[in-house]
Amino acid sequence: MMTTSTDVPAARAAELDAADPLRPYRDLFIGADDPSVPAYLDGNSLGRPTKASAEQVTAFVTQSWGGRLIRGWDEEWYDLPITIGDTLARVALGAAAGQTTIGDSTTVLLYKLARGALALRPDRTEIVVDRDNFPTDRYVLEAVAGELGLTLRWIESDTRGGVTVDDLKSVVSEHTALVVLSHVAYRSGYLVDAAGAARVTHETGALLLLDLCHSVGSVPLELDTWGVDLAVGCTYKYLNGGPGSPAFAYVRADHQQDFVQPIWGWMGRDNPFAMEQGYRPAPGIRRVISGTPSVLGMIALQDTLALLDDVGMDAVRAKSIALTEYALDLVREFLVPLGAEIGSPEDSAERGGHVIIDHPRFEAVVERLWTKGVIPDFRAPQGLRLGLSPLSTSFGEVCTGILAIRDELTD
Ligand SMILES: *Cc1c(COP(=O)(O)O)cnc(C)c1O
Repeated sequence: MMTTSTDVPAARAAELDAADPLRPYRDLFIGADDPSVPAYLDGNSLGRPTKASAEQVTAFVTQSWGGRLIRGWDEEWYDLPITIGDTLARVALGAAAGQTTIGDSTTVLLYKLARGALALRPDRTEIVVDRDNFPTDRYVLEAVAGELGLTLRWIESDTRGGVTVDDLKSVVSEHTALVVLSHVAYRSGYLVDAAGAARVTHETGALLLLDLCHSVGSVPLELDTWGVDLAVGCTYKYLNGGPGSPAFAYVRADHQQDFVQPIWGWMGRDNPFAMEQGYRPAPGIRRVISGTPSVLGMIALQDTLALLDDVGMDAVRAKSIALTEYALDLVREFLVPLGAEIGSPEDSAERGGHVIIDHPRFEAVVERLWTKGVIPDFRAPQGLRLGLSPLSTSFGEVCTGILAIRDELTD
């Protein structure tokens, strides 16, 4: 039998899947073998649901909410942002207990943590951020700088790379109050040297706030060891919490005593049910909370935390690197000859869990691919982003996706 141009890469993908120690985890996700979606390559924008979550969410509605009613708050829900935060910290953040809470959105937590951090450095006048940071990070910091009369000091980073420690060194000074970086760049996938960034930031006496949206659940984190001061991240990407599931905030233990965020709500007050006059922040990380947290929104992400705990972040990272290396090999073989350019670091040590490729036709290509159930992401101006979620993405999907892109480009 003659082999076609699809058989050889497909056979190679099947070999890689057969040898993948994480292969069985894929079966724990809903829709992983849905023939109408042959390649889901956007798990870094919205992770797939686990089968366990379908059961847990239903059980929560029928038993906890439906059965315990308002009593649920006393019995369990009130502490849930902190208990889930502690699990997240242990499993995926490299952080000791008592420093992480779940709630709000990344955007809102970024605002609260940035304001709280700036209040810890009241005599300083500058916030450092990069031009290629995620839009919400840039917008929030513009608003904060405007409110407080501070200056944004922009890093003009390489859009195919990201912010290096040397970039940071050239802008931080004794005027810097706060540095805000995405740990993994949403577009290029560049992986920031967080320990190096923390060191350079601290040499000037400033604080480092990391946005972990694109690294949590795909890259092992060591927040305590690295000396990161504050962090935020979302739970609907690699943590599969579901659309709009609440975000998380980390505030290093030694900052908490003096940390005050600007949205003073009753749920973050010391002894909230006493309903007393005047705001007094709750002890510890609870003070980051403002109003009633979304308990329903926190159910599903716990199922992925359980999987990550089982697998271990080092094995997750090993699969993640194997997936991105494989994707880049196929891109070089099939798409670069058609004019595509790699927009991500080619050294896996400098890369998170996704890769991006550029081509002037990609906006139209992605639109057509979506109708066929091949689902990467488009990122302006001409980037096609392949998000590879280590627990749920197969090598076969990567192969199917890249060959489908090739077919669109040769049409
Ligand atoms: C996805 C993402 C966000 C999302 O913020 P929301 O408030 O959840 O919309 C923020 N920052 C980065 C770096 C992201 O990748």
